[in-house]
Amino acid sequence: MPYSIEQTDAQLRDTTAAIRYTLAFPQAAQHLVHVTMEVDSAADEIILAMPNWIPGSYKVRDFIAYQGDLRVAGSDGAELPFEWIAKNRLRVQSAGGNVSITYVYFGNERTVRLSHINRYHAFINPANALMCVEGRTEEAHHVAIDHPWSTVSTALSPVRSGVWGALNYDILADSPIEIGDHFVAGYDRHGARHEVAITGVGDFDAPWLAAQTERIIDHAVTMWGSLPYDRYVFIIQLLPGQYGGLEHARSSVNMFDSEVLSDKTKSVKLLALLCHEYFHLWNVKRIRPAELGPFNYNEENYTRMLWLAEGMTSYYDDLSAYRCGFHSRAEYLRTLTDEHLSRLLDVPGRNAMSIKDSSYLSWVKLYIPTADSANRFPSYYLKGGIIFLLLDLHIIAATDGARSLDDGMRALMDRYRAEPERGVTEEEFIAIVSGAVGVDIGGRLRGWLDSTDELPVEEVVGAAGLEWRRKSSSTESRFGDDLSFQQAGASRWSGLRLEETKAGLKVAAVLRDTPAEAAGIGADDEVIALNGMRVASMKQWEALLKGARAEDSVTITAAAEGRLYQTTLGFIPRESHELVEKAEPTELERRRLEKWLSR
Ligand SMILES: [Zn+2]
Repeated sequence: MPYSIEQTDAQLRDTTAAIRYTLAFPQAAQHLVHVTMEVDSAADEIILAMPNWIPGSYKVRDFIAYQGDLRVAGSDGAELPFEWIAKNRLRVQSAGGNVSITYVYFGNERTVRLSHINRYHAFINPANALMCVEGRTEEAHHVAIDHPWSTVSTALSPVRSGVWGALNYDILADSPIEIGDHFVAGYDRHGARHEVAITGVGDFDAPWLAAQTERIIDHAVTMWGSLPYDRYVFIIQLLPGQYGGLEHARSSVNMFDSEVLSDKTKSVKLLALLCHEYFHLWNVKRIRPAELGPFNYNEENYTRMLWLAEGMTSYYDDLSAYRCGFHSRAEYLRTLTDEHLSRLLDVPGRNAMSIKDSSYLSWVKLYIPTADSANRFPSYYLKGGIIFLLLDLHIIAATDGARSLDDGMRALMDRYRAEPERGVTEEEFIAIVSGAVGVDIGGRLRGWLDSTDELPVEEVVGAAGLEWRRKSSSTESRFGDDLSFQQAGASRWSGLRLEETKAGLKVAAVLRDTPAEAAGIGADDEVIALNGMRVASMKQWEALLKGARAEDSVTITAAAEGRLYQTTLGFIPRESHELVEKAEPTELERRRLEKWLSR
């Protein structure tokens, strides 16, 4: 059977499966799920494997580490011999009969890609807790859930009471399960069922949040024309200080700070996160790089195309938030300035590695961040998002507003519908989008993807009635009838990134080719004093720096591994930019801008 991630609930109703799991929670308080796996088999031996990574998060995580108390028996209950043949693979001598495997799985980490179980709930990612049978991943799999709580939220399809199912192991691995006493809103829209499961305790309004998802879905139908699923589940986990998301074909897991309601900026960020993970159901689950599905769960699946998977989605998340009405026009431009364009300029590594290499090496770069990362490579989320902003504006300009990247996306979705078992290559991506918009995007796009040169932001946005210009001087130093209360010092910086810890200020990173590097300061050094004045907080640091704004340099007292040193820290000018609408655009520029920002 060809690879497929598509499933409707009707396909699973009252079916049977030869691979069945039961999840039970007699030790939820100890963060354990008890798994029983039954495999109907006539083979002499079977090989069981636990994935080593979860699609969407490109790092080998060795989920087998959380498994214990493994026991393998035949259908008569007698133990069967088995041996490990790799860290995550097990050969069972089944002698032509059925096999029953039991084990416990320890889930005690709060991330969207692992499992978490406690006395109040269980969040299970089948991709890290449920083993597969090698050679039989294309069969249907059933999961019975025996639990003490009230509610199960999952994209797995109900088979009968207490049992859910997937048409194959890939769909099972792609369908996380939230089990607990959480809030659920359900509604039908555009011919599909939607569920919004919200867990957590804090300052948020669950019904309000659930209602916002309807806007996201309405916008998606405007853009794509229809919904490619019969049912979709938003799993939203609100916890203090948390952030993360993981996309799936019929669901998404969105983890965010629980104190959202009192903070408008945070609320919009949460909504943009929902837009991001929801957009992925098209881009990366269906429109996808050729290497990302079918998956090899045992090892790294290398792709040079995460700029498509994540860059494109990063561009569309804030654009979708704008189109949904979560951002005003000015707020959207400010978000592009602050969260995208300016942030990339703070990453010296943008000139050190291409985004394609950054994608290929994501397993050991983006997913193993160090204090030196910003100096060595750009994130394919950040630079990729800007590349798609530029590509969209380039298409709009080249077609005088007749076409946009949306047309290319719809053509890519048509290509998926025609051949769902196969992802796209870079060449196909370029050909399909070029064909859909009537402009050859290959030359420009390849240049941006392959090179480490600066992106031509000013030129491309200029043709669309926008300006990437130097920010006007701050109004912070004015008072009364526009009186100055302090010398307006030119904006400057040293390339030093500090973080506040309980023990005081610590160097988080030293950016390359900056005065901080020249001063001999290193990551993790403690910063103790500035010009002889003790500093223990960012507030103090900034106040002392402001006081020294007339000086060319300051004296820093710091310590490396507890040994004190003193050094002179200089500054370089820092220009901040902003993306704004041109005051007097030409008629053509105005038309292009309206095409881009129409909603
Ligand atoms: Zn993403």
